[in-house]
Amino acid sequence: MASLVTLDQVKVHFAVRKMLFSTQTVRAVDGVSLSLDAGETVSVVGESGSGKTTLGRASLRLAPITEGSLSFDGQDITSVREGKLQWFRRRAQAVFQDPYSSIDPFMDIQQILEEPLQIHNIGDRTDRVHQALEDVRLSPAGEIAEKYPHMLSGGQRQRVGIARALILQPEYILADEPVSMIDASSRTEILYLMRDLQDRMGIAFLYITHDIATARYFSDRIAVMYLGRVVEQGIPGEVLDEPLHPYTKALIAAVPEADPNNRLHDRPSVPGETPSPTNVPTGCNFHSRCPQFMAGQCDVVDPMLVQVRPGRWVACHLYVETKDGYVGTRDAYVETEADTEDSK
Ligand code: SF4
Repeated sequence: MASLVTLDQVKVHFAVRKMLFSTQTVRAVDGVSLSLDAGETVSVVGESGSGKTTLGRASLRLAPITEGSLSFDGQDITSVREGKLQWFRRRAQAVFQDPYSSIDPFMDIQQILEEPLQIHNIGDRTDRVHQALEDVRLSPAGEIAEKYPHMLSGGQRQRVGIARALILQPEYILADEPVSMIDASSRTEILYLMRDLQDRMGIAFLYITHDIATARYFSDRIAVMYLGRVVEQGIPGEVLDEPLHPYTKALIAAVPEADPNNRLHDRPSVPGETPSPTNVPTGCNFHSRCPQFMAGQCDVVDPMLVQVRPGRWVACHLYVETKDGYVGTRDAYVETEADTEDSK
């Protein structure tokens, strides 16, 4: 059975003006394949500049796909004219980072939630608006519907943003940093709400976040992005507890530790700066920051994303093909053993 959303070797490249007569190419997404099944949540994590937001926007055809393809429910929609995409726009929705900027401050909540219904010519609007507000636990729905966005808290506004995405009963929602601009107490509530909606309504979510810790609670799979590429992919328990790629290890080490007793074992955060996406390093694009860099290989040969075991993928020369499949080289094991020793 076809996946609900399939991105196949997708590239999103932009031309930016460098000087008066020259341009540079920004390789925001540089050959990513990712799929989501119905009802599945995939988290895409990475530092700012990793391309995760652009990838999410490409999955909704909101960023232009330079190469590769996007399919939804088995239909290739990479080049379909916008006028012929109304069915897709109804079935695929988005929740963005800043709830205040993504809703019109001059409309009341009733009008904000009715707008998509009008666009798609759907009736029973008041009932549907009230139901959507109940679904995101904003009640009493009748009172909330009469308010304006500035009369709500940040957490309530984000619930309105989710209600607006839900009102067309979509099968797929892009959730792009949906909790990064709201207070910590509302953050957990919103994540649990989205998890609950996924369980009850079977919606597939692509959850874009720089906060790798929240991905654990909201994902069936995690894809780690660096400089436009997926460098590791797997189920959350494996990726977060036994990271394979040096970048994933550094990203996890950079998560602040709440327990002061564990701070002694914190490892350093990701070293150095992310290179410019207009000047991507040769070979492995992480080589200029990698503590396990191997000269003559990592700076020359671009590592492929390979399956090291079922459902577990990594792009790194520390994992090599043998007759039994892909295994970690001695260097990969040495680091794992050293980490184990450190944590004792
Ligand atoms: Fe580091 Fe080389 Fe692996 Fe890239 S391929 S992550 S530089 S060890």
